[in-house]
Amino acid sequence: MAATMYYSADADRSFIADRKVAVLGYGSQGHAHTLNLKDSGIDVRVGLREGSASAVKAAEAGVRVLSMADAVAESDLVMMLLPDTLQAEIYVEHVEPHQDPGDALYFAHGFNIRFDCIVPPAGIDVAMVAPKGPGHLVRRTFEEGGGVPCLIAVEQDATGHARETALAYADAIGGAQAGVIETTFTEECETDLFGEQVVLCGGLTALTQAAFETLVEAGYQPEVAYFECLHELKLIVDLMYEEGIGGMRYSVSDTAEYGDLTRGPRMVDDHVRATMREILAEVQSGSFATEWIAESRTRERFRALEAAGREHQIEQVGQQLRAMMPWISAGKQSVQEASGGQG
Ligand code: NAD
Ligand code: MG
Repeated sequence: MAATMYYSADADRSFIADRKVAVLGYGSQGHAHTLNLKDSGIDVRVGLREGSASAVKAAEAGVRVLSMADAVAESDLVMMLLPDTLQAEIYVEHVEPHQDPGDALYFAHGFNIRFDCIVPPAGIDVAMVAPKGPGHLVRRTFEEGGGVPCLIAVEQDATGHARETALAYADAIGGAQAGVIETTFTEECETDLFGEQVVLCGGLTALTQAAFETLVEAGYQPEVAYFECLHELKLIVDLMYEEGIGGMRYSVSDTAEYGDLTRGPRMVDDHVRATMREILAEVQSGSFATEWIAESRTRERFRALEAAGREHQIEQVGQQLRAMMPWISAGKQSVQEASGGQG
């Protein structure tokens, strides 16, 4: 079943043009949605907690900054761009008391609705606009006249035009330039968690580290292993991104292509596929969500694993080698600089 794609021509901006939007949070997604909405002429303000380090960044960018409660109270569409594990508490304290029937509650990820951490009242539109990319790309591609593809979903349609409004919002942040697909909170949430665990973050980092370790253990120089297993990934991923797997295979040598075709399936064998199905089942059953919500309270294991990752030899070697290639990150504003970090 092929999905229907929606583009800017399908979006009716009048559904968002007269809305008062409150973006809560000014991190990776928050700064991008806010600035793109503002540049699209939408009446947008940011709601931040008291003493937030992001307030200065937002004010410098010409954005009105209010407390979360005030931002919600004076708006009729609230976009939750806060850490997923904090949203439920913040919702109860700062959002729910200030929303009126006919208002809208928006998310960029289905987590809190899918796992019933937030249960909005009837009478409120509940929708999702989820860019399929990190916030700095949502901003950068918009500035370049493009956008990041978005998923939209409607969980609750109290007004009868929740879908049109979500599509108009996606258009206003640039998403409809790249393409919008309608999904459900369940599909977005489960595929998103699965993808980041199995391929995008977990699968990729573990594969890279394991391959690096295998070469170094076998006596090869760590610098050579770094270039081979991490640095060159970008070239390959760029080719896949621009021209698909076939385009990548066309560009690499036929020796590389033969190795890909014959060794790839041995790497990702039945055992790996069984593990993928197991990880998907943990996502679907909610056991991953329960585990992560509990872990997020103390973050002891999370911080220990993060620290161990930072100490991995591939990071030390990479830091030295990247220092000799300043053009790699030259001129790129880090997300932390743009958004004021986690504050
Ligand atoms: P983030 O961690 O970059 O930013 C969160 C922001 O929330 C902070 O910058 C801060 O302004 C605010 N904040 C943090 N702690 C707070 C607290 N205790 N009280 C009040 N405000 C606080 O988060 P993000 O990555 O932008 O994620 C926001 C949402 O977007 C999440 O639902 C996430 O799943 C979704 N999303 C993220 C991405 C991505 O690539 N980053 C992509 C698609 C969807
Ligand atoms: Mg209101």
